[in-house]
Amino acid sequence: MEEYTALIKKRLSKKRYEHSLGVAKTARSLALSYGVDPEQAYLAGILHDYAKELTNHELLELGKMYDLILDDAEIREPALLHGPVGAVLLQRELGINNSEILAAIRYHTTGCGNMDKLTQIIYIADYIEPNRNFPGVEILREITYNNLSQGVLQGLNQTIKYILEKNQLLHFLSVQARNWLLLSGAVKK
Ligand code: FE
Ligand code: FE
Repeated sequence: MEEYTALIKKRLSKKRYEHSLGVAKTARSLALSYGVDPEQAYLAGILHDYAKELTNHELLELGKMYDLILDDAEIREPALLHGPVGAVLLQRELGINNSEILAAIRYHTTGCGNMDKLTQIIYIADYIEPNRNFPGVEILREITYNNLSQGVLQGLNQTIKYILEKNQLLHFLSVQARNWLLLSGAVKK
C-alpha cells in the first residue's frame, strides 16, 4: 500500500495526490459502514485517478488501443476515458488484477448500471472527500452515510444537471447508472 501511495505521489500533482488520499480515506470509512473490505476500498481510492494527468491525445490513443471507446462523447471529451484507461494501465503496469477494484476505477467518472458496492463507494468518495468544498457537500455526505445508493443517485443527479446546464455531452453510462439505481429499489424516488 505504501508503495502505491508513493507512486501516486510521484505521478500526480500535489493537489491531485491529496485528493487521491482523501478519496482513499473516505472510501475506507464508507467501506467500514457498508460491509466492504476497507483495504480494497482504500487501494481503489488511492489509485482511482492513475490516468488523470495523461493528455487528451494520450487518453484517446490508449482508449483506441485497448478498445475502450464506447461512445462519441469520449472522442469529444477524452477526460471521460481516464477511468477506463487508468484501470487498463493499472492492470498492465502494476499487475492489479482484482476485478472489483478495476471496475470501481473504470466507472468512477460515469457510474454504470449494476454498480457493486465498491464501485458506488469510489464514485461517491470522489465527490465528497474532505478536500471537496461545494454548496451542498455536507448534505451529500450525510445522505451518503445514511444510504450509499441514495448518495450516489444524488451525485449523479447533480452531475447530470451540471452537464445539461453547460450543454456538454452526457455519457450513456451515467443514464444507465441512474436508471438502475431508481429501478433497484435501493433509493427513494
Ligand atoms: Fe477521476
Ligand atoms: Fe478523482
